[in-house]
Amino acid sequence: MLALGQDEIAKYPFLADAGQYLKDKGFTLEQFGTDPDLKLLVEKAFNRIEVAADGKIYHSDLIGDQASNQAALPREVFSFLLAIVLLKLSGMNTLIKRFALAEARRAEKYLEKDLANISDESKKQLAIKVIDDLFSVQIKKQDDYFVIPVSDYLRHSINFHEREWKLINRHVENGLVFLTPHETVRLIRKELGTYISSKIINAKTPPMISGFEESVNKLISMSKKFTTFTVTTGEYPPCIKHAIEILEKGENLPHSGRFMLATFLLSKGQSVEEIAPLFKNAPDYNERITLYQLNHLAGTSGSGTQYSCPSCEKLKTQNLCFAIPECDNIINPLQFGKKRI
Ligand code: SF4
Repeated sequence: MLALGQDEIAKYPFLADAGQYLKDKGFTLEQFGTDPDLKLLVEKAFNRIEVAADGKIYHSDLIGDQASNQAALPREVFSFLLAIVLLKLSGMNTLIKRFALAEARRAEKYLEKDLANISDESKKQLAIKVIDDLFSVQIKKQDDYFVIPVSDYLRHSINFHEREWKLINRHVENGLVFLTPHETVRLIRKELGTYISSKIINAKTPPMISGFEESVNKLISMSKKFTTFTVTTGEYPPCIKHAIEILEKGENLPHSGRFMLATFLLSKGQSVEEIAPLFKNAPDYNERITLYQLNHLAGTSGSGTQYSCPSCEKLKTQNLCFAIPECDNIINPLQFGKKRI
């Protein structure tokens, strides 16, 4: 385990041993439920989850990577640890996933900043070590870039569909891929989210703590917003099922995947209002923009053109095809399941 200073734990609180941290600071969970001053931290933790559930990044008390004042550092860590306790007590996995993703994005910002830090070598080294320890990616600084072995690069970029991530479009020298600090951190975004979420899922659920009930109940009601889906996946082709699964998990579906899913469902006769809730779990969900885009694809706004579902061939080039024998050489997902004579 990495040896971390207080400000580093505030930036990367998921690296802390929660129980040990509380003990070291001389607190028990029960105190947070009863002491009026400490109870404010439970509210802060609730707010941290609420912000994440909305697909936003929690606005930290840290300014740059410094705390606005010394007391802010432990508050940052406590609100994270208490958020985990609240999530465990609520048992709502949808909220855990959204929280983990938002916290991963928050940590990503600090990792990127630390990697790019030219005035403090120790911050850069810590970021490199976090990435190596957690995700077994060995990065080295080379001039203005970070370099990683091609095999590591391929392992982590496999699910990226955008053209710029294809190895052929990267600067590669002597078996090493060159990346900016932003790209280096982007490469491990999914793993960072998975790491935080598995840490929460594997944490022990404490018995209900007096004073936490109201926040827990509010979380249970909040999670209901994210569990309404209007379509069943049974008869859909694998590419469409896969896209729906990604959204249900609260993960990011690339633009091309969203286009495929929306045009497929519109062609199947689903209305814009029926399709929109599918995107509710997307990390960057915005109801107004989603409805605008769906109406545009449906041809009910803009140029009036209704867009068609892309061909299987096109979807293959976008890494969105997950063909199974039942696909049987069809040329468009809309043909899936139709018997040919
Ligand atoms: S072959 Fe076509 S329908 Fe089947 S998974 Fe691929 S894109 Fe979808």
